[in-house]
Amino acid sequence: MSDCLFCKIAAGEIPSDKVYENDDVLAFNDINPQAPVHILVIPKTHIDSVGEVTPENSHIAARCLEAVAEIAREKDLKNGFRLISNCGEDAGQTVKHMHFHILAGIPLDEKVK
Ligand code: AMP
Ligand code: ZN
Repeated sequence: MSDCLFCKIAAGEIPSDKVYENDDVLAFNDINPQAPVHILVIPKTHIDSVGEVTPENSHIAARCLEAVAEIAREKDLKNGFRLISNCGEDAGQTVKHMHFHILAGIPLDEKVK
């Protein structure tokens, strides 16, 4: 996706504050953090959102979740964390490249909106 912000970040064309990387996944600090720990986990392959996961590409989503667990271990998020993936307009998805927000470091509000 030539004009996708997160594809450009994954390709290193736009800098990010990287916290984790492997062949399939990149994770970096959110530019506008909503908690003391706010990390975005993205696949290097473009998928619009969680709503576009299929049996053919679900391994990509699985790689992201494996990375989430690895980051939680590396960052020692023993007190827990919240994982969010906004999908579509009503959820407020602003970047149309599937990503998972890891929020941690403070007790999080129970509200969903
Ligand atoms: P969402 O609203 O779920 O689509 O999340 C997009 C997230 O990307 C927001 O939390 C933004 O703060 C974050 N974001 C946008 N541009 C950048 C960037 N260049 N580097 C890091 N995070 C970004
Ligand atoms: Zn993309």
